[in-house]
Amino acid sequence: MGIEDLFGDHYHKPTNCDECAAPLDFKGLGTYKCRKCGKIFYDDFGKVRKYLDEHHQANIAQIHAETGVDEDSIRRMLKEERLEVTKESKTYLTCEGCGKPIRYGLFCESCAKLHEAAKEKRKKEKQMMDKKDLIHVLGKAMEEGGDGKRRFDR
Ligand SMILES: [Zn+2]
Ligand SMILES: [Zn+2]
Repeated sequence: MGIEDLFGDHYHKPTNCDECAAPLDFKGLGTYKCRKCGKIFYDDFGKVRKYLDEHHQANIAQIHAETGVDEDSIRRMLKEERLEVTKESKTYLTCEGCGKPIRYGLFCESCAKLHEAAKEKRKKEKQMMDKKDLIHVLGKAMEEGGDGKRRFDR
């Protein structure tokens, strides 16, 4: 998947003004402005962001109904932390670990910590395994007679 899939047509980026067909200039945060008549256009991200700005209490189904952006895209925008829902909002995501409502990202704070700890543990375990492998290899070399043995007896 290229960068275009993530940030380009993925959000149904408008390219030309529907009034005068002039090209649009990107103004940031999913907003585009017609070079000629100044009409404002939004891509999917812009639509969702704007709707959330005006409707802090909206949930994903409502955002979808009002903006026409599909629910998966909305969820992805929230997950990718490009959008954050307000504390009092009913627009929530659920933690992948415990199902608790979260405001952005994949995990709630405690699960994020657990997740980090588990990752650290796996890393340490891997290092241990590597060390064991090394000991195993050295041990084998010592067991083997001949050159191997002489080398270690020295
Ligand atoms: Zn225009
Ligand atoms: Zn959690």
